[in-house]
Amino acid sequence: MATELKGQLCPACGENKSILREDEVDIPHFGKVYVLTLECEACGYKKSDLEPAEEKEPCRFTFELESDVDLNVKVVKSGEATLKIPHIITIEPGVASDGYITNIEGLLEKVKKMIESSVDAEEDDDDAVKKSKNLIKKLNRALAGQEKLKIIIEDPTGHSAIISDKAVKSKL
Ligand SMILES: [Zn+2]
Repeated sequence: MATELKGQLCPACGENKSILREDEVDIPHFGKVYVLTLECEACGYKKSDLEPAEEKEPCRFTFELESDVDLNVKVVKSGEATLKIPHIITIEPGVASDGYITNIEGLLEKVKKMIESSVDAEEDDDDAVKKSKNLIKKLNRALAGQEKLKIIIEDPTGHSAIISDKAVKSKL
């Protein structure tokens, strides 16, 4: 069930033209989650985050991507979580950090897009471009199930999870 609130204040342009949507999603082995999305009709600003219905403990999930089967593993990542893929990227929480529900494949696609957009900004820096292109190659191999990767999500609010028997949950 989704609810919508129109005429909300947009934090980006200051107009009362954004829409706040609240969706309720039931995730097996995690529980009920509210997905909140704010989208501005005036400037296009968009931000989403998650909030579980129950209180959660701070947590760290470590997952080893070993084959293409693992790409289907469900991931819940809140805006407060830090995503770490050793030797590839660390994404800290911040204004630009959205919360989302996806799977390992979707997560790697997001990371790939982030690195691809940084390549455009690095056009004058040959070394940085080369490094980014290598990371993209590595991610493409992982997305084809041909490269092993470690994926770590740390969340001080506990609002995140990697939902698999293979994922190791530990205290943060
Ligand atoms: Zn706006």
